[in-house]
Amino acid sequence: MRAPRHDSARHVILTAWICPGCDVAGRTPPEDEPECWNCGGEVVVTARPAVPAAGTATAQPGS
Ligand SMILES: [Zn+2]
Repeated sequence: MRAPRHDSARHVILTAWICPGCDVAGRTPPEDEPECWNCGGEVVVTARPAVPAAGTATAQPGS
């Protein structure tokens, strides 16, 4: 049985989107519904990039 030994590198799938009306883009965490931060309207999902979960959380500073 193979046990994963390197499971610390967690990734989270963000929702990348654009708002054609505002010509702006943004990213939304998977637990939130994507909406334009400019007009609050509907957006067009363009990609679902996977980013390290550590990038969204506060990393502990190395001493
Ligand atoms: Zn907009």
